[in-house]
Amino acid sequence: MDAIGLTCRHCGTENFVAECPNDGRSFVLTTAHLDGRLREFEDRPVEEFPPGAETPLCDFCAGKAAGLGLAELVSAGLRQKTCPACHTEFISDG
Ligand SMILES: [Zn+2]
Ligand SMILES: [Zn+2]
Repeated sequence: MDAIGLTCRHCGTENFVAECPNDGRSFVLTTAHLDGRLREFEDRPVEEFPPGAETPLCDFCAGKAAGLGLAELVSAGLRQKTCPACHTEFISDG
């Protein structure tokens, strides 16, 4: 998995940001991605990830694959750029 460490400017939490293999969007890795679940509000930042693990789909693509409706997809797409600790958006690219 290719992921870069990025520190949240708001709360100082160290996060890992990966690029979606499907659409190339940046998203924050959370415990949900490691478990193969959709990200929930309670999910935490990933401190380390298993070496050799496949890069998961971003929240938007994973939600699409799970059959979420448009409103839920839009909110998943916004949420994937937020820090899991303070829920502030901190990835500036698309
Ligand atoms: Zn994606
Ligand atoms: Zn934060």
